[in-house]
Amino acid sequence: MTPLAPGVLREAVIDTDAITANVRHLRRTTGTDVLAVVKADGYGHGAVRSACAALAGGATRLGVTDLSEAFELREAGIDAPILSWLHAPGTSFAHAVASGIELGISRMGQLHDAADAASADRPAVLHLKLETGLGRNGIAPGETAAVFAEAARLERTGRVRVIGLFSHLSNTSPEEDRASLARFRAAADAASAAGLSPRIHHLAATQAALSLPETRLDCVRVGLGIYGLSPFDDRTSSELGLRPAMTLRAAVIAVRRVDAGHGVSYGYTYRTPRETTLVLVPIGYADGVPRQASDAGPVTIGGRRYQVSGRIAMDQFVVDVGNAAVRVGDEVVLFGDPEAGVPAVEEWAAAASTINYETVTRIGPRVPRRQVGA
Ligand SMILES: *Cc1c(COP(=O)(O)O)cnc(C)c1O
Repeated sequence: MTPLAPGVLREAVIDTDAITANVRHLRRTTGTDVLAVVKADGYGHGAVRSACAALAGGATRLGVTDLSEAFELREAGIDAPILSWLHAPGTSFAHAVASGIELGISRMGQLHDAADAASADRPAVLHLKLETGLGRNGIAPGETAAVFAEAARLERTGRVRVIGLFSHLSNTSPEEDRASLARFRAAADAASAAGLSPRIHHLAATQAALSLPETRLDCVRVGLGIYGLSPFDDRTSSELGLRPAMTLRAAVIAVRRVDAGHGVSYGYTYRTPRETTLVLVPIGYADGVPRQASDAGPVTIGGRRYQVSGRIAMDQFVVDVGNAAVRVGDEVVLFGDPEAGVPAVEEWAAAASTINYETVTRIGPRVPRRQVGA
């Protein structure tokens, strides 16, 4: 990887070739279409670049939660199918329908709002979302018959077109997920009986797509995996054939030789055990580096591993590098592809008692993203 440019405090390097390769690999492994999930600014990687890279790898559809996220993709010139599935009460779907955004529908009121937004030449294109056990969004089992019947009626008027049926799994256990799959299949049969003929049944996100083949159906909705990260505690990215796309790094901005017993950062949770060298790293919890990983988060500097010494502050943290010859301007890598000898994001997640999803997604707007790859 190229060195940090002069004047750069911190950056997240995003390897879009890795995203493209991950999507290609996931398509081959699952044997189904891939809907690439690029919500939350592409899990912190940048929504537009992640979407373009995923499409280059053969994703056939993009997924976001908010309509504003879908509009951002359209405004960037992306014309692939986009599904958006979380809507504020009172949302008008007119702009969404006019922009060709597919809508996830979780209740009768939304179905009517979508139909109201259709125009003579443009029906609202819908994926009906079913509640099959996650306890979140979706058409409840007791409501499906009425919603299916109404959707079929609206389809005959030309105001809506139901192209998809979907749900989301809890990843609690294979047994629980299979029970959700059985509920999903029963609902899909009921939808057919009501006169609907959705082409795309989709249920699995990354974890089920890679571990429960029977949940793959017509399409898998993959988020974490396209960014090269593993949803499993006991399987790494490389064991899954995936490559992490984000490398988080910063430049050493100060180096100081200190005596034994020197307190470091707020609260002196770390005191130097001997004469040593402290280096200052200009990235902190305002940038998404979890304060909970104080005195624990790993870094590499000049190919050697160290860990954060003392509390992580809003904008910076300190690393005790012993007697290593670290200099101002040297690169500090917080996480990246462990195959390249740098810490894995999962180590930071573990140090902060969270998961890799949260760690990458929370990397903040003060961290410039530098894209490498096509
Ligand atoms: C976020 C999300 C996904 C993607 O999940 P991953 O575990 O990141 O693959 C899929 N479907 C829905 C409904 C989601 O909210």
